[in-house]
Amino acid sequence: MTCIDEAREKLLLAAFRLPQAQTVSGRKTTITNAFVCSVIPSIQPSAADIEQALAILAIDPCDMRCAYCGDRSTSFDHLRPLVLNRRPTGYITEIANLVPSCGRCNSSKGNQSWRTWMVSVTATHSPTKRGIADTARRMALLERYEQWRAPIRIDFAAMIGKEEWERYWSRCEAVIEEMRRCEDDADVINARVAQFMGQSSRPASPD
Ligand SMILES: [Zn+2]
Repeated sequence: MTCIDEAREKLLLAAFRLPQAQTVSGRKTTITNAFVCSVIPSIQPSAADIEQALAILAIDPCDMRCAYCGDRSTSFDHLRPLVLNRRPTGYITEIANLVPSCGRCNSSKGNQSWRTWMVSVTATHSPTKRGIADTARRMALLERYEQWRAPIRIDFAAMIGKEEWERYWSRCEAVIEEMRRCEDDADVINARVAQFMGQSSRPASPD
C-alpha cells in the first residue's frame, strides 16, 4: 500500500474535483429558459449597425473584447435580461440589446441587471469581484450603449392572445411538475443504490 504523507495527501485531494451530481429538478431554470428563448424573435443586424454598436462600446472588430471585463469575447450577451420571474421580459435578440461578452461574464451575469451585477461583490465572476481596473469606464460605455437606441420590447399576450399565451405557460408548469415527480423517483432509486453501495452519495439539489 502506498504511504502518503500529510502534505502529499492535501495536494492530491486539492487536485481532484468530483463532478457535480445532477438532479432532475436542478434543470428547472434551464427548462424555463428554453420555453422563453423558444419564442423570442431574433433580428440579424446590418454591417452598419454592428459598426455603430462597436464604436459606441470602443471595441475594435479585429480584436473582439468583452464589453463587461475586456477579456476576449466568445459570444454576444443580452444586455437587458430576456427572463424575469420565469417569464419573458419582452426584450428580444437584436443588436440594441446585445453586447460582446466572454463566457465567464455571460454565465455569471445570468438574468441579472447588468448594473447590479457589474458592481456586485458577491457574484463570483463580476468585474468588481474580479478587480477589473476600468469597470467604471466600461459601465459608462454601456450606459451610452443603452441610450443609443430604444430597445424593442414586445407584449406577447397582446400579440397572440391571452388564452394562447397562458396555455403555453401552463404547459411549462406541467413539464416542471412532471420533473418534480421524476425527482421523487430518482431519490428512491438513489437511496436504494446507496444501500447496495453501502454509502450515501446524493448532495442536495441546487435549484
Ligand atoms: Zn467578460
